[in-house]
Amino acid sequence: MSDSFKQQGSSSDDINGAFSPKPISPAKRSKLLGNTTDFRSGTPLQTRAASPCTLNPPIDSDGLSWPSKGARSRLEQTSDEAQAREKRIASAVKTILEELGEDTDREGLLETPERYARAMLYFTKGYEDNIRDVIKRAVFEEDHDEMVIVRDIEIYSLCEHHLVPFFGKAHIAYIPNKRVLGLSKLARLAEMYARRFQVQERLTKQIAMALSEILRPRGVAVVIEATHMCMVSRGVQKTGSSTTTSCMLGCFRDQQKTREEFLTLLGRK
Ligand SMILES: [Zn+2]
Repeated sequence: MSDSFKQQGSSSDDINGAFSPKPISPAKRSKLLGNTTDFRSGTPLQTRAASPCTLNPPIDSDGLSWPSKGARSRLEQTSDEAQAREKRIASAVKTILEELGEDTDREGLLETPERYARAMLYFTKGYEDNIRDVIKRAVFEEDHDEMVIVRDIEIYSLCEHHLVPFFGKAHIAYIPNKRVLGLSKLARLAEMYARRFQVQERLTKQIAMALSEILRPRGVAVVIEATHMCMVSRGVQKTGSSTTTSCMLGCFRDQQKTREEFLTLLGRK
């Protein structure tokens, strides 16, 4: 296990202080999330759930990172339980197909519910990824203090509002503080957070915050450009439109020169 995890939850005043990844007391959390009694009585106190990015530290003590509610039960399931889960999903998919007016007994659709169940489990496998396995022995002490950029990392994710794909490219940069991460791990990190139900803004932020937690670098920048199927294939039908999001931490946020150097290297300026 890398030492980097031991600092988790500490209130160091390096760049990580920018987003204070401190655990939050249950009382405060319930206050932030809103009170169910008020919700039932219709008082519009909290219309949106607080973001898991700001409520929880990037990495849990067991190495999972912002796992979904059922991620641990998926991780710990026996093969019988896994089969039963797949069956339940498939039967729900069969219902959807029938409600859409399809004949689920016709040849082409016979095994579609099972296939879709397996596909969805794959598309959401990122919740179960453990940061320790993802970055496995790839954090190195190194004197390098210049910007490291990996461009054009392909990402495939699912929009949590429509359950349809969004996909595109992620560009990740950081300025080390005596610690670097194996380059291929940046893509693994992006993949881990992309294989979940996401919104692009959160995906961008999660990659940046996790990298920041792992390396404690001087700064992190993440830019994602993606095409959303829910946008291009329905409603407004803006084919070819893409969405760009960015998250800058540490010196990328504080220093305009660093940010500009990054954008220039990305070919954005
Ligand atoms: Zn959508």
